[in-house]
Amino acid sequence: MTLAIYDTASREVKKIQSQSGVTSMYCCGPTVYRDAHLGNLRTFLLSDLIRRVIEVTGGEVRLIQNITDVGHMSVDVIGEDKLLAQAAAEDKDPFEIARTYEAKFHKDLELLNVKKADGYPRASETIDLMIAMINDLILKEFAYIGNDGSVYFDSKAFVSYGDLSGNRLEALKPGHRYEYSDESGKKFHADWALWKIAGERTEMIWDSPWGYGFPGWHIECSAMSMQLLQNHVNIHVGGIDLRFPHHENERAQSNAATETETVDLWVHGEHLLFEGRKMSKSSGNVVLLSDVVSRGLDPLSARLCFLENRYRSQMDLTWSALEIADAQLGKWRRKTALWGTSTELKVDPEFLEAIENDLDTPRALQRLRLIEKSQEISDSDKRAFFIYADKTLGLDLSRVVLMRDISKDQQDMLNERSVARSEKRWADSDALRLALENSGLAIKDGASGQEWSWR
Ligand SMILES: [Zn+2]
Repeated sequence: MTLAIYDTASREVKKIQSQSGVTSMYCCGPTVYRDAHLGNLRTFLLSDLIRRVIEVTGGEVRLIQNITDVGHMSVDVIGEDKLLAQAAAEDKDPFEIARTYEAKFHKDLELLNVKKADGYPRASETIDLMIAMINDLILKEFAYIGNDGSVYFDSKAFVSYGDLSGNRLEALKPGHRYEYSDESGKKFHADWALWKIAGERTEMIWDSPWGYGFPGWHIECSAMSMQLLQNHVNIHVGGIDLRFPHHENERAQSNAATETETVDLWVHGEHLLFEGRKMSKSSGNVVLLSDVVSRGLDPLSARLCFLENRYRSQMDLTWSALEIADAQLGKWRRKTALWGTSTELKVDPEFLEAIENDLDTPRALQRLRLIEKSQEISDSDKRAFFIYADKTLGLDLSRVVLMRDISKDQQDMLNERSVARSEKRWADSDALRLALENSGLAIKDGASGQEWSWR
């Protein structure tokens, strides 16, 4: 089997294709003027999950994720450049702000066990690429210079505009989702700026054939993905809120420039709610990974919570779910350690089938719990299944650090007691239990065998 994922454009679950064995992936990255919240991180974990599934089944992935450090205009604060506004608020140079939040973004990814992308291109360092693409679009008559001097994409020239999001040009009303408040130079209300003339602006501007200015946000992702992934993207990942207009516009630009369908699969992760409310700056409901850590919870408990829900269903994260996930991680790591030290991997076909079927992680985790509790599967096989599963889940289940606290004697007694129980030598088992309890452990015998914790 190969991985199949729901494609927003065709509204079907489609199998992943790749060119010459390498799957090209592009994931829209952060705008680095503030911390990424857990909702943003859920999307970045989605691209990591896809990548891991492809790699664990023998594929190779080339993943590019952009860093938006040329402030793109906010949808909720019309006309305000996010980066410049934050720079003014913190009384810092805008690039200093960008580097600070970019470093924090990388730190978050590291804490979440996200594998590094093959490239994190910065918008500010790829201006030339964007200018070249805009030039090309003008030559091909998909873009024009407006009477205000800015360059706009001519949405009517791109006939399949709306195919991705379902938003047809004729249905788009004037005034809908403008990204800039001063776009008087465009011919049609659904057109968007590719290059904005500087006007009064003096910071974060670059020279171009159309004078000093700065690029629009959408052109950034087209220019980077086409250049760094050789004009074709097998899997394009982003949050559902980017489907329109960002991805619709990106598709128009990339397809128009290359005269091909540039993306095979558009994958969108759903919104995250926290304690019942949408997580967004505008609704004042924002939780950061650092908030999770400062509560003493393992950052990977957020990763586990996300896996307990399908990527394309809206989920409601709560503090209590994070606490339960934190305890679950500890339990699984202790068990994996108790099951031995082998590094052998074993593929469980049902686990793999669930994961490859549009990333059905809730079912995959259910399968893992069945393996954990099975009376038929040996401890060493359980460990081998868990270690294989963890290659896709990324939960660091073979972490041994938590076992350091147990002495060699305690470990030996636990192992002996496990054997005694399986051989129904109850007197030996009781004696070992007493010895373990005297050494400071609490022992609980459940359906899945003995479990211990510190008393
Ligand atoms: Zn993007």
